[in-house]
Amino acid sequence: MNAPMYVKVMDPVRQEVYTAQLHLKSGQYFLEPADEDHPTEVILSPGWMDLHVHVYDGVTPLSISADLIGLNTGVHLVADAGSAGEATLAGFRRYVVPTYRTEVRAWLNISSIGLVHLREASDINLFDVEKTINAVLDNQPFICGVKVRSERNIVGSLGLQPLQLARTVARAVGKPLMVHIGEPPPNVEDILELLDPGDVVTHCFHGKVGNPWTADGEPIPALMKALQRGVKIDVGHGAGSFSFEIAKKAISSGSTPFSISTDAHAMNINGPVYDLPTTMTKMLTCGMNLMDVISAVTSAPAEVLGLQNWCNLSGPLQRATLFRISEQPPVGRAYMDTKGREITPNEVIVPEAVISDGALIRIDRVTTTLTHNPTDLG
Ligand SMILES: [Zn+2]
Repeated sequence: MNAPMYVKVMDPVRQEVYTAQLHLKSGQYFLEPADEDHPTEVILSPGWMDLHVHVYDGVTPLSISADLIGLNTGVHLVADAGSAGEATLAGFRRYVVPTYRTEVRAWLNISSIGLVHLREASDINLFDVEKTINAVLDNQPFICGVKVRSERNIVGSLGLQPLQLARTVARAVGKPLMVHIGEPPPNVEDILELLDPGDVVTHCFHGKVGNPWTADGEPIPALMKALQRGVKIDVGHGAGSFSFEIAKKAISSGSTPFSISTDAHAMNINGPVYDLPTTMTKMLTCGMNLMDVISAVTSAPAEVLGLQNWCNLSGPLQRATLFRISEQPPVGRAYMDTKGREITPNEVIVPEAVISDGALIRIDRVTTTLTHNPTDLG
């Protein structure tokens, strides 16, 4: 880095924005608050995280490489949401995760087989509570919680049973549940009633029958109660689970999602999802403010994953994401929901670089590869 580089720092823990100089001292980066307001377009936040992706590449049919949607797009850590179950977890950790530069955590599927089959929760023989409990306990902190998909075409005649078994495991190990919601049965009211503080409802803005919002965008009573007792709602955009209309109405009625995640997988990374910054841009366009969007990919997932120091911006910076707000969407990028509706964002979140393991790495968006040439971004 040649000239001093100024950045606008977004601190989601203190909910503060300030100008700082990014200093390189003895090979390490430090933030020093700047006296004057130096104009800069570069914004620095703690490293972004994505709580719902599928990255058991080569084994489950929907999975992709974590680096495609990870460091290459400003995302330092991704949490795989149930691609592995207790029977398939070892292969994920031994042969797949070590090939990624992006940090990976996982929600363990309550179904022993994970997502090698997409009706993974439809057969009672596919669950083993004891083995799943042991797999969670033996794989700390890699396993961040238990995943269950509680939707009609996935659970079949088992109804709420997969969720009840997942809850049994989650409570036994003291970890949160991540519950996928969709078309009933089970009814979303019955699902929400089984959730405890800290549990996460993913696909919160799915626009299917049985979604948990009123026509005015207010939470239905069961969701209101769940939110009041500390259940968290997560975007989980996916290929079929995100409606602009529902998201806009909910946000304008005062409900912001706790976390923003992509549910990135093979069927949506070429659209409509693409990556986390695209999903963040959509949430900005749906009415969230930038600080809330940044909190939803930094301090919020850090809380779910129990990463107390993740957002620390003092001392030598181990990780951070640098980005800017552009008026121009990337060429050819459409901002669609999963209902086929399109919006035109006025402000597009564009990742520029990451500080990873203390090194500044520019994101080359043309080749989507990482280069190790620290560049003055100012
Ligand atoms: Zn998913």
